[in-house]
Amino acid sequence: MPVEQRDGYRLWEGGPVPKGADGITLGSLVIVRHGKATPYMLRHELVHVRQWRRYGVVGFSARYLGHYLLWRLRRKGHRGAYLRIPMEIEADWVARRQLSTAVRDELSQRVAS
Ligand SMILES: [Zn+2]
Repeated sequence: MPVEQRDGYRLWEGGPVPKGADGITLGSLVIVRHGKATPYMLRHELVHVRQWRRYGVVGFSARYLGHYLLWRLRRKGHRGAYLRIPMEIEADWVARRQLSTAVRDELSQRVAS
């Protein structure tokens, strides 16, 4: 199986991913669908790698599933509950912020040269 060792994580492109998702992170293993390893996706999943390290297997799973179930109990659908999980909010926020910073850095380099 083509698992690529990268800086601080392993990437498995084309591995098993839950229905309706483009990627999943289990500890330091990032699995994404073929063709979905975009810069946003990798930055997003890397935040999850750090969250797994921060909370541990039990802590991460309990928090993640706990928040998901809480929002389902509050009558949100699957996607609505998923988007409200604090770890997903953090991953999305960090991935977007880093992308906009990267674009700005490239632009200022181009202007400067
Ligand atoms: Zn995520």
